Amino acid sequence: MNKLHFLTAGLPLASEGNGYKTGLDIVKQMDLDGIEIEFVHGVRMNEASQKAVIDFTSDIKYKVTCHGPYYINLNSLEPEKIDASVLRILETSRMGKKVGAYSITFHAAFYMKQQPDNVYNTICKSIEKICSILDEENNNIWIRPETTGKGTQWGTLEEIVKLSKEFKNVLPCVDFAHIHARNNGIYNTYDEFSKMFEYMGNELGSEIFNDFHAHLAGIEYGLKGEKNHLILNESDMNYKDLLKVFKAFDVKGVLVCESPNIETDTKLLKDYYLSL
Ligand SMILES: [Zn+2]
Repeated sequence: MNKLHFLTAGLPLASEGNGYKTGLDIVKQMDLDGIEIEFVHGVRMNEASQKAVIDFTSDIKYKVTCHGPYYINLNSLEPEKIDASVLRILETSRMGKKVGAYSITFHAAFYMKQQPDNVYNTICKSIEKICSILDEENNNIWIRPETTGKGTQWGTLEEIVKLSKEFKNVLPCVDFAHIHARNNGIYNTYDEFSKMFEYMGNELGSEIFNDFHAHLAGIEYGLKGEKNHLILNESDMNYKDLLKVFKAFDVKGVLVCESPNIETDTKLLKDYYLSL
């Protein structure tokens, strides 16, 4: 990618349920760079919506990513639920490719009170299956497990970095709000953000900063981690220093804003970034 793109998480609020065509026109009018399609309740999209997204992504100026369903647990105790989770990730990837998406993300699993190393090995098997099926289908969309916001959810930055080393189409989707919430308020200063980027660069190579996928929002959290998303300026999320670090590392790719006011904070982030 040639720059950092600012994406809304889902359609802008101003589209008021009027669908993709309207929502994507608002994204363009606001000079934003794209959206993350939220398949959080299932991978369903009608033909008209697909066409609207395909038209949108046919202009390389605009980027689309997809968020897989919430009902994914690659560490379920029930094998059929693991199979269903694999299928949901495949469906997200297939629809993503169809509409011209760049990357997909999802919350991979819960620990289910098991040892993290065992959970990692279990997840690895499913990711291997997903990658080999997509490879056979010539689908090379990025598969990006997201860093998660709660201690019960698999997905620390270290775990996802480790997984990324094993598969060529796998890289992290770094949700900075989740990392901040999961670690009870740390990872919120210029130095702490810089260390994360240094770590990723050292482990995965600095070329990952040319193809980055990140999430950001204000966040409310407690001892168990993430509670809910907040508007950036009503939270303690230090987005200004984070964007300075994006700039310092010359990060290109997509930054998806998941604040409840969707497009307003996406615009805030883009404007602040461009002012640096
Ligand atoms: Zn997510």
